[in-house]
Parts: sequence; structure tokens; C-alpha cells
Amino acid sequence: MNTQKNTQINTQTNAHCKICGNGYRVCNSCRKSQGPSPWRAVADSMEHYKIYLAVHHYTISGDKTAAAAELQNCDLSGQESFLPEIQSAIKEILAGS
Ligand SMILES: [Zn+2]
Repeated sequence: MNTQKNTQINTQTNAHCKICGNGYRVCNSCRKSQGPSPWRAVADSMEHYKIYLAVHHYTISGDKTAAAAELQNCDLSGQESFLPEIQSAIKEILAGS
């Protein structure tokens, strides 16, 4: 049962923010390089990248205290529009140990 979904995917948006889910455009060289803006491969803004790192570190280490400290330095505005798994991770972290 093959479907024909592979047409018309190549629009302007080729990436989605791992925090808020917003579509954005990242060029291939941005994706590959770890140059000045590696966050472009993950999130649509620097602030969202910082949140991503905090949640990511928490996922790896399970260290709520460290993750909460990282989140203190992040702008969590618009949090209600973040992806559900990010929202629940943030809640979990900020619920404290
Ligand atoms: Zn975002």
C-alpha cells in the first residue's frame, strides 16, 4: 500500500523547532556546520535552543536541580505553545526535587 506523499515537500520550511514546533527555514550548510549558529539545526531561536539544552541535559542526567538552574536563564514566555513533551518536561523540572 504505497502512498504518494513525496511530492511537494520541498517548500520554504524544512525544519521544525524542537521546542515550540514552529516551522522555519535552515539551509543545508547551517545544518551541517557547527559554525557560529549550531542552534539553527534544532530551534528557531536562541532562547528556544537554550530551553532545548536544559531539557536535553535533564533527559540525559535526570538532574532536576541542574536543569532548573539552566531554565532560570531561559525565557519561558509562550510556554503554553511549546510542544507537549517539552511542556511536561519543564513542569517536571520546575516541580523541584
Ligand atoms: Zn521555537
